[in-house]
Amino acid sequence: MNPFPIVMSAPSGAGKTTVTKELLARRSDLGYSVSCTTRAPRPGEVDGVDYHFLTEADFLQRVERNELAEHAIVHGRSYGTLKSAVQTVLDSGRHVIMDIDVQGARQFAQAYPHSVLVFLLPPSVEVLVARLIGRNTEDRSTLRTRLQSALAELRDVDRYHYVVINDHLEAAIARVGAIISAESVRRGRVPALDQQVQGLVQRLEQELSQYSA
Ligand code: 5GP
Repeated sequence: MNPFPIVMSAPSGAGKTTVTKELLARRSDLGYSVSCTTRAPRPGEVDGVDYHFLTEADFLQRVERNELAEHAIVHGRSYGTLKSAVQTVLDSGRHVIMDIDVQGARQFAQAYPHSVLVFLLPPSVEVLVARLIGRNTEDRSTLRTRLQSALAELRDVDRYHYVVINDHLEAAIARVGAIISAESVRRGRVPALDQQVQGLVQRLEQELSQYSA
């Protein structure tokens, strides 16, 4: 297998984290790249599992040391993908899946052009707002920032290879799973395809030579 990065973007509240977590739990060919952020952990979030929670100074140091594959300010906080986290998963032979905002996705796709970019859409604005309020982790001004970001993010859908509407969780998981499976057999990703086909051609020619016209 030729592992590749899968970038998942969506406005907060589209259900991206749930879809990603479910795929990771169900598929052994996937690994997660834990991002860095300077935002505070939410209740229940674990450092090194959900994010590497860094101070602004630590984050800046990693940027300066060129340790990040991409980084961006999202909702007023810094977020970034560690090159080492991506490489560790790819080296283990698994596809690496990550949650990245639209600015980061653009940078990441330039650095890793074989990436698959998937945008998850909420089925409606009502569902988006309800999911954000239901989380109960956002105050009113945070909610407003997130809705403003959602508006900006929606305008970037064109940059993505695939768009999945999260109208029903199981269906969305199945669709993203199907994308990953289909992309793994895309012609350009099949390892040593030329040799494989060449081997088949040679064998077939030998076989054919035994059939006189
Ligand atoms: P949250 O704080 O709700 O976990 O994530 C907020 C936003 O930050 C989401 O849109 C998420 O995709 C984005 N995000 C999370 N990790 C990264 C990252 O490593 N890089 C970038 N550019 N965005 C990220």
